[in-house]
Amino acid sequence: QTETEVELIGKNEMLPIYKPREKFSHKGTYGHGLLIGGSHGKIGAMILSGRGALASGAGLITTFIPKCGYIPMQSVVPEIMVITDVDEEKLTAIKFDIEPTAIGIGMGLGLDDKTHMAFQKFLKSNSVPLVIDADGINLLSKHKVDLKLLKPQTVFTPHPKELERLLGKWKNDFDKLKKAKTFSKKYKCILVIKGAHTITVFEDKLYVNSTGNPGLATGGTGDVLTGIITGLIGQGYESLTASLFAVYLHGKSADIAVEDYGYQSLTASHIIDYLGQAYLDLF
Ligand code: AMP
Ligand code: MG
Repeated sequence: QTETEVELIGKNEMLPIYKPREKFSHKGTYGHGLLIGGSHGKIGAMILSGRGALASGAGLITTFIPKCGYIPMQSVVPEIMVITDVDEEKLTAIKFDIEPTAIGIGMGLGLDDKTHMAFQKFLKSNSVPLVIDADGINLLSKHKVDLKLLKPQTVFTPHPKELERLLGKWKNDFDKLKKAKTFSKKYKCILVIKGAHTITVFEDKLYVNSTGNPGLATGGTGDVLTGIITGLIGQGYESLTASLFAVYLHGKSADIAVEDYGYQSLTASHIIDYLGQAYLDLF
């Protein structure tokens, strides 16, 4: 049994890893994030995720969504490019001819069998740094997919229910973290355990986030977080660093936004709108 190291993540830990915007840069400098997900009635998850990725500083963002999402996505977020599946309501074949620098998958994806087949096929051939959220996690758990096929440093962003599907039931918080460490070591992955104090687990190390508030307990905030992580990886941050920085900025944005909107009325969109303030607050 190796010793567990715990680090508290605040501004002082994030400042040294921050990559400033360079004067002689262009959109290509900041990567091309691809977000894959959405299904009938859950296109909003992809809109939020895409907007979160843009606000994180991504050079380009493309979303891969079912056909029914085409018009809403293009109308609501003109900055985001869209590739559609052949199916109207769900993803059935994940194919694209772009070269993304990071991929986030699972937001509003749904659990259809055809989607599962497409997802599994995609995982087998994918070599791009990956973030797996929501129904991406649920599909892997439900079908007991062999996670050894994942590239090292894959990021998982489960909320408590999704974590339980991934790890099985735990006895108490210590047991939960022990299981998480074992999982991280076995699959060489990063686990972002979301909650009031989001804890990121990588091998034997735990990183406890210091920002965020209960205003975040509302639909869509997790989708925004996945967008931010994907956007940061796409810009060249290492997957672990991107996860820690994204969780920090997401929480900080909520802490600033709550001053204007209050805990009850905070929405996922506000987290996107205030992300710039969270960046500016670093200095
Ligand atoms: P999801 O359940 O996937 O939409 O993710 C919810 C997001 O909100 C995660 O980033 C959580 O860490 C955050 N969150 C939820 N509840 C709280 C809370 N009570 N305090 C702080 N952050 C929270
Ligand atoms: Mg979620």
